[in-house]
Amino acid sequence: MNILILGSGGREHALAWAIRQNPKCDRLIVAPGNAGIERIADCARIDINSRADVLEFAEDNAIDFIVIGPEAPLAAGVSDALRAAGFLVFGPSQAASQLEASKAFTKEICDACGAPTAAWARFTDAAAARDYVSAQGAPIVIKADGLAAGKGVTVAETVAQAHDAIDLIFQGEFGDTSVVIEEFMAGEEASFFILCDGTDCLPIGTAQDHKRVGEGDTGPNTGGMGAYSPAPVLTDALQEQVMAQIVRPTVAEMARQGMPFQGVLYAGLMIENGQARLVEYNVRFGDPECQALMMRLGAQVLDLLLACAEGRLAETRVNWADDHAMTIVMAAKGYPGAYEKGSVISGLGDMAESSFEMVFHAGTSSDQGQIIATGGRVLACTGRGNTLAEAHDRAYRLVDMIDWPEGFCRRDIGWRALSQN
Ligand code: ATP
Repeated sequence: MNILILGSGGREHALAWAIRQNPKCDRLIVAPGNAGIERIADCARIDINSRADVLEFAEDNAIDFIVIGPEAPLAAGVSDALRAAGFLVFGPSQAASQLEASKAFTKEICDACGAPTAAWARFTDAAAARDYVSAQGAPIVIKADGLAAGKGVTVAETVAQAHDAIDLIFQGEFGDTSVVIEEFMAGEEASFFILCDGTDCLPIGTAQDHKRVGEGDTGPNTGGMGAYSPAPVLTDALQEQVMAQIVRPTVAEMARQGMPFQGVLYAGLMIENGQARLVEYNVRFGDPECQALMMRLGAQVLDLLLACAEGRLAETRVNWADDHAMTIVMAAKGYPGAYEKGSVISGLGDMAESSFEMVFHAGTSSDQGQIIATGGRVLACTGRGNTLAEAHDRAYRLVDMIDWPEGFCRRDIGWRALSQN
């Protein structure tokens, strides 16, 4: 079959790598792709957030199946346009994507189905929001309601900090002026990935990521500096609790409200005293968690995504291996602040790629045989092994083979899980 993947990050390279290995995949096109992806797939320069452009491309290239990687095309309704034209698509509708695009929407769904999450309130008036915070006290969490690429959230330790965050939102810093204020939840965070076909759900793995740029989880937040799978804190029993109390009720409520969710639901969870509560939903794979998950799942990913898109999850099983994977993000110096583009990355050519060691590309392009860094997060060095320690050693071995003086990575990815062993 002819398959089109939308996106250009490490997540899409990992999806392409896994899908390419499945014998059902005849032709693979990734739009727009990157320098790593172009070695295993055709890359096409189209505007992936334009319904018309993606539709026209899919029709012209006899595409049988489309996998949507990032949230922006989902929020733009690209999946709806493709499905309306009869294409088989992996990725939720625009309406169902509100689970990521609007924090208030998700909170209302949680309230409607009884899913455990932080107590919350929504305000469209700054004075009322400030009064609410003064009454509640700190710590307290202030969130811009819409999509803000992870930058619209302040975990305020004092009431003054919370007031400042509210003022920033009402000055229009994040587009719309609506604020969600949440109770602060203490605990350990983990991510849980579940395929949903509108009715049935199939868990496909757990992970933990590292959001802060600096070692010891310090410094500003990033898109993610590394991740590992599985997440030991999400035990089998806890996963079952999350499915029963959070995921299945959410999926049933979405269907009841006429917005069946079809795609991957990424539940961000806070775990304390053996109980999980929902922090947020995303409606696509996490990046870099996806790189670790794809290393573990391999070629079966295509069968799983097809079963999801075709509504066959009730009869689908994951072929689990008792393995671990870790991915280390290499970023351009300066990220997540200002950074230089255009530096040359060497050492990649000598690497053997296998189902145990892979360097996934994110912000790269190729120029006359050279690999050039073109983004903030640039490479994801990913290792798989029988233990987390083995996966860790393989991933860092890849890091150490790369010659890129303008790049950096965190050296402590997985510290929490590794120190427990
Ligand atoms: P991203 O897209 O980067 O994951 P986001 O903008 O969608 O972020 P959230 O995931 O809702 O925002 O929040 C970002 C981070 O803030 C969470 O990963 C968590 O560490 C912290 N956080 C959010 N809500 C709470 C809460 N109620 N209690 C404690 N911490 C929270």
